[in-house]
Amino acid sequence: MFVGHLAVALAGKRVSPTVSLGWFVAASTTLDLLWPPYLLAGIEQVRIVPGAMAFSPLVFDAYPWSHSLVMAGLWGAALAVLARWRRVPAKATLLLAALVVSHWVLDFIVHAPDLPLWPGRSPRLGLALWNSIPGTLVIEGLLWMASIILYLGVSQARGWLGPVTFWSLVLICTAMWASGPWLAPPASPRALAWFALIGWIVVPWAAWADRNYMQRAAV
Ligand SMILES: [Zn+2]
Repeated sequence: MFVGHLAVALAGKRVSPTVSLGWFVAASTTLDLLWPPYLLAGIEQVRIVPGAMAFSPLVFDAYPWSHSLVMAGLWGAALAVLARWRRVPAKATLLLAALVVSHWVLDFIVHAPDLPLWPGRSPRLGLALWNSIPGTLVIEGLLWMASIILYLGVSQARGWLGPVTFWSLVLICTAMWASGPWLAPPASPRALAWFALIGWIVVPWAAWADRNYMQRAAV
């Protein structure tokens, strides 16, 4: 899942409009931000098997440190502490922690049964929505569209830079996500990991876009 995680971030902004969208994106994608460095360090393993699932050629052999449910809870707590230290309001830090865990839940819907509950010997779960391209596009796409409407419902652009930064982020992320099943698979797990590191850009980009929006006045 990709834009589905961003959808959750946009929804978080609706709940806590005074906190930067960058925090919410950092929270909902924390597990995917940690994953590429772990791959490069050899701590976690992925294989590229074209056709493994309709929507993705990735076989997640092991990713307990970035993607187990227990670790998601710990990463959520760590991000909440970091956010509190950066003076994010206490209530919003709880929301950030919940968003980190939401990543596991959304991945659980789309991944094959490969998501561990904890590091070590653990059951591995997943509902495998990625076996269906239309199912993935419709369900994740609807989530994404609904969240954009929610965000624009509470945020108003200031000047031209707002729509440019926000919609460029939306369009590029949508294109990367929706074209996935038709792109050539990555050349190697290492190439994939380096490419996945680009995902870190989305956090400051979202924060930058959000800075060019202001909270709509309540009616
Ligand atoms: Zn993930």
